[in-house]
Amino acid sequence: MNKIEHIGIAVKSLENSNDLFSKLFGEPNYKVEEVRTEGVNTSFFKVGNNKIELLEASEKDSPIAKFIEKKGEGIHHIAFDVDDILSEIERLKKEGFKVLNEIPKKGADNKLVAFLHPKSSNGVLIELCQEIKE
Ligand code: ZN
Repeated sequence: MNKIEHIGIAVKSLENSNDLFSKLFGEPNYKVEEVRTEGVNTSFFKVGNNKIELLEASEKDSPIAKFIEKKGEGIHHIAFDVDDILSEIERLKKEGFKVLNEIPKKGADNKLVAFLHPKSSNGVLIELCQEIKE
């Protein structure tokens, strides 16, 4: 794994949180994107070399809606940048991690993504992401 690609934060209202985080960082978000397959609207902020992703449920039964129902708003996942997501998935499976997406899917921000079940990583939902190169 190369570095933390971004940290995902679950929010109830993207509109309110965009305002809040713009004030916090002193800069507006640079991108808003809907990921239909996940039932989320996302918003991205740059903080120096780091990125923060805000996630709002776009449907009632989306995983983000369930997360907020159970745990409230807050840090949802940590995403790590990888060069080769398929070989990382294989490696992590061999190490005993539970991979939720053995076939990576298209995530926000031009990435192929796969998640690890938080039960196999001390309660932290981990996202692997590989940049899609054109
Ligand atoms: Zn993410």
